[in-house]
Amino acid sequence: MPRLVLFDIDGTILRDDGVAREAYAVALREIYGHERSLRPYDFSGLTDPQITRIVLGDAGYSSDEISSKIDALWEVYLREMRSRISGQRVRLMPGVVALLELLEGEGDAVLGLLTGNIEPGARIKLGSHELNGYFPFGAFGSDSAVRAELPPIAALRAAEHTGLRFAPCDVVIIGDSVHDIRCAVPYEATSIAVPTGPTPAEALIAESPTHFFETLEPGPRLLEAILGR
Ligand SMILES: [Mg+2]
Repeated sequence: MPRLVLFDIDGTILRDDGVAREAYAVALREIYGHERSLRPYDFSGLTDPQITRIVLGDAGYSSDEISSKIDALWEVYLREMRSRISGQRVRLMPGVVALLELLEGEGDAVLGLLTGNIEPGARIKLGSHELNGYFPFGAFGSDSAVRAELPPIAALRAAEHTGLRFAPCDVVIIGDSVHDIRCAVPYEATSIAVPTGPTPAEALIAESPTHFFETLEPGPRLLEAILGR
């Protein structure tokens, strides 16, 4: 049975040099009139809808107000993302492309995404370096605001895509935030944490991921952790 290997995007595959934050701030202003700085927030590992509820909730918007305009928010966010994104601004994390290449050539791995990004936002970020081809499916912030609900959704999509039924013990979740590690726990998937995003290594290790690596540069230990052999 192959492993289903699910990658987080921000801080794990790439860092976008603030592109998404800029686009999001413009969208918040245009749609909700929200002017406050986003600087105090650490969005790492949160889903886009979750972030929106936190930021607008803090500014006193009601849940109904937030819901009523959220589709318009995403429209502006995506428009602004498309106008800002470029391969120069988006930096790939060390070893990621080599690892994707290796796993794709490996009959024992099926690749997917598990990210808090809404799907079109995820596709824009990955498209800046033409990485979408590695990930024909995934589970996204647009599927659920709650990250812990994303692993079974990803497994379902993987089944639709491959015809294989992945049990939790066949699923590996790779990410840079405490939320990536935590969403693997109730699902009983393997978690692999890397400190290539804003979260310090100690904070990740404190969550007891199944494995911890400094980077995703492929080596025998990392491949063994991912493929389980
Ligand atoms: Mg991340």
